[in-house]
Amino acid sequence: MGLLRLLTCLLVFLGAGAVALPVAANPGETPLKVRVQLKWFHQYQFAGFYAALEQGYFRRAGLDVELIEGNPEVDLAGVVASGAAEFGIGNSSLLIDFNRGLPVVAVAAIFQHSPFIILARVDPQIRSIKDLEGRTLMGESHSAELTAYLKKAGVDLGKVRQVTHSGSVRSLAADAPDRVDATTAYISTEPVEASQYGIPYQIFNPRELDIDFYGDTLFTSQRFAREHPQAVAAMRDALAEGWYYAYRHQAEVIDLILEKYHPRMDRMTLTLEAQSLYNLFLADIVDIGYMSRTRWQEIARIFAETGLLPASYTLDGFLFEPDAPVPEWAYRALAWAALALFAGGLLVAYIVSLNRRLRLSLSQLEAANAELAELSATDALTGLFNRRHFDAALDRELARATRHAQALALLIIDVDEFKKYNDGLGHPAGDECLRRIASVLGANVQRASEFAARIGGEEFAIVASGLWPEQALALAERIRQEITDAGIAHPDNQDSRVSVSIGVSCASPGQLPLDAGSLIASADAALYQAKREGRNRCVLYAEASLNNCPEQFPGEPAGGSPRLPSSPCTPP
Ligand code: GH3
Ligand code: MG
Ligand code: MG
Repeated sequence: MGLLRLLTCLLVFLGAGAVALPVAANPGETPLKVRVQLKWFHQYQFAGFYAALEQGYFRRAGLDVELIEGNPEVDLAGVVASGAAEFGIGNSSLLIDFNRGLPVVAVAAIFQHSPFIILARVDPQIRSIKDLEGRTLMGESHSAELTAYLKKAGVDLGKVRQVTHSGSVRSLAADAPDRVDATTAYISTEPVEASQYGIPYQIFNPRELDIDFYGDTLFTSQRFAREHPQAVAAMRDALAEGWYYAYRHQAEVIDLILEKYHPRMDRMTLTLEAQSLYNLFLADIVDIGYMSRTRWQEIARIFAETGLLPASYTLDGFLFEPDAPVPEWAYRALAWAALALFAGGLLVAYIVSLNRRLRLSLSQLEAANAELAELSATDALTGLFNRRHFDAALDRELARATRHAQALALLIIDVDEFKKYNDGLGHPAGDECLRRIASVLGANVQRASEFAARIGGEEFAIVASGLWPEQALALAERIRQEITDAGIAHPDNQDSRVSVSIGVSCASPGQLPLDAGSLIASADAALYQAKREGRNRCVLYAEASLNNCPEQFPGEPAGGSPRLPSSPCTPP
């Protein structure tokens, strides 16, 4: 049975290999006129198209391509299914449209990861995605994956006021007439735009909940795919070629967009968009446009799990697979492969029997390992993570923040006059005090992207990604207040209560990559200043020259930053 399955897999594999061979259009023929419905206004997001047009890749592939600019409300699948355009740029929501009966076919995934995020305004009451309940969310019509994210995060959608997208993040501004609390957004453009309008924002990213969908996806209608399979394959390949060109000639393509397409953004924003988009491509790992059925199955599974697809959903007919004849070499390869498989099968049978004997002792070893890993990451006194885990996790979080262009905040919390506490009440009471402080910290790190650790005797740390300086400072201030409010009696401290001093440092996306040492050093410097100024206070360290800081960076409003003063500052 195993052999049969392997053989079938091989057949499928060989078939797919044949399908993936480039299909060239006949030169000399009149080019086929095709219209492409874009998803949004002209911007770098569609650079592959502009480059392919300019370089003549579409012409060479026998296509006369017309681009139709999009907007937040365009019904992409509807436009293509009705024949008003031959191609569209959609996203994973296409799978839902397909299962609703719209005859769409996915041709190529341009972005291996989706740029979709939720951008919310900064508000102490909006600390997690769940806090959007009772608030206004502005959404595009094709943002089903964000609906899946909200549902997976346990948000009651009935309690979120959903309004149509105005087309601009300006709706988040305090003085906007149609002000909203949050909006669906592309990580590649809207955070930068929000900064340029001086709107403080925070990002909620579906990838925090392991929702990792395809981003922009080229699609066509079933009818067009059936009648013109060669043209569809040619379009796919020419577009990929266009993207490779844009990838290598970024500045030139940005010039082209500015000259010919009247984008709504300036050169700086297009440049930042380009850099951010290339993080979503993985072009160095897979070919641009590559899609896998397994990955679509996983996307379908999450849609079904969150009720956006019925349990009876299907992928059959959704993926573009032109019927190309299987070349002769494939049959020869198949014969050899079958032979090799037979020999391999014998070997596998032997290994399986060997494995079975090993499995029992292995599972015991795994259980012991898991216990050991947990022990080695936890601080025995407080149950928080320990220093060893902190060091490793901070490096990881810095790398992740760099990849996702997110801010990262570090809080170092030190108990005030703790030596005197021990001297007055004894070491065991000191231990109990540390446990109570740790529980306040633990209660304040609820998001998946933050954690608390004990990093020294009476010193703690919180690492929180996605927090901007003023949010990090607000969090620090809340923790400091909660600790004094706990009213733990101190024998020799101002106010006779235990207090803490907190140093805060933040790395903004433009300052990344940054090493952990610099981030810790700046939080320490801020903490030192808090102690010097009299303890029981929070200080934000923010020096624009933390590391090779560019003149302007994503998240910084044009004309300088209100968030990053050049020396430590105390909260207002
Ligand atoms: P400051 O406000 O400047 O931070 O003063 P401090 O007294 O808190 O700072 P200092 O570094 O002089 O003293 C820290 C004290 O913390 C010394 C040590 O007795 C105490 N300590 C460190 N680890 C533990 C622990 O695990 N349990 C207890 N009970 N005390 C600890
Ligand atoms: Mg200390
Ligand atoms: Mg101390």
